[in-house]
Amino acid sequence: MPQTIENANSVITVDLSKVKRNIERIRRHIGPDVKIMYTAKSNGYGHGLVVPTLYMRDHCGIRYFATGMLSEAVELREAGLKDFILVLGGIPYTGIPDFVSNDLVATVYEDTIPQALDAEAARQGKKVRVHIKIDTGLRRIGVRVGEELAHLIETLKSLPNLEIDGVFTHLANAYSLDKTFTNQQMAEFTQALEQLREAGIQPRLVHAANTAACVASPETYYDMVRLAALIFGYDISPGIPNRLGLEPVIQWTAPILSVHWAEAGDNVSYYRFFTPKRRTKIAIVGFGMGDGYVRSLVTKDTEHNADVLIHGRRARILDLNVDVAYIDVTDIPDVKMGDTVTIIGKDGDDEITSMELGEVGGTSSGHICCAITSRPLRYYINASSGD
Ligand SMILES: *Cc1c(COP(=O)(O)O)cnc(C)c1O
Repeated sequence: MPQTIENANSVITVDLSKVKRNIERIRRHIGPDVKIMYTAKSNGYGHGLVVPTLYMRDHCGIRYFATGMLSEAVELREAGLKDFILVLGGIPYTGIPDFVSNDLVATVYEDTIPQALDAEAARQGKKVRVHIKIDTGLRRIGVRVGEELAHLIETLKSLPNLEIDGVFTHLANAYSLDKTFTNQQMAEFTQALEQLREAGIQPRLVHAANTAACVASPETYYDMVRLAALIFGYDISPGIPNRLGLEPVIQWTAPILSVHWAEAGDNVSYYRFFTPKRRTKIAIVGFGMGDGYVRSLVTKDTEHNADVLIHGRRARILDLNVDVAYIDVTDIPDVKMGDTVTIIGKDGDDEITSMELGEVGGTSSGHICCAITSRPLRYYINASSGD
């Protein structure tokens, strides 16, 4: 059944005007000569894949896009995005025809995918643009400078239907104030660019910076920065917190579905998960594991659990089921059925951010956002403001 703002339980309100303001502030920071590539992976870090992407193209001047997976790129094409899309992750062999017919840009780092892309491009009468991925230290996807890169260059030169359009690397530790590892990665990347130049290859687009490097390491910019978290207001860079003055874009809310008392010693939730030490007023709230709230935020050790905001005040989560959460509202007066609970976002003077939840749950703000399933309604507001 289609969800509406009236019938949905948990709702993620996405304020697109904040996306626009964040991008303006990022542009001021990086200067006019550096491009922004919006990295639209994992349902747009929970903000939704299609709507924020099209908004950035139509209202924020973004012309370069990337996705983690081929299927995400195809979804964006089908939604009408005709611009440049780089698929950052690996491509399954069975997806090669789709990849070529959708005019996507491939990340290449070994022989077999480029060969398959070239053959399919010939079949479809097309050219495929590729970006060479250099592994400078993450040890995820990429070729190493030296022999491996030399071999890939040779392979690519033998494939007439591929065009080398870019070269990039990905930083493993731009989140640290200690730049030793980042500097090491950049030194290796510089060597790779040198090796390419010596082979007569000077790609149009050279890129390395992610969110943390965009804020704190301008020496990693080259032609373009690749951003997801930063655009949504999550500055996970080291040093001065949020120095660009960015705003989180989402507000995640859910209504209270029941308010009742549990006595000291009562059982609360499955597996006798929580036993109150005092008489405890419990609000049952309409979000849970099915909405992708991260389980590690809610443990039997209530002291270390995450909070929500009710009437501008903090309330502790006691347990989490698939559909609902149990919240301790003993110390908040006048809590009643239908009241709105803020899971992520501002209420009154207080705010819960995905970064706070990342810390509480022993994970990252990215995980908190990416884990949110398609179940909460994405409710987009201010889609045309500021034009
Ligand atoms: C996810 C990703 C990015 C951007 O992520 P941030 O969280 O914004 O730093 C950039 N490059 C690659 C290769 C990625 O996988």
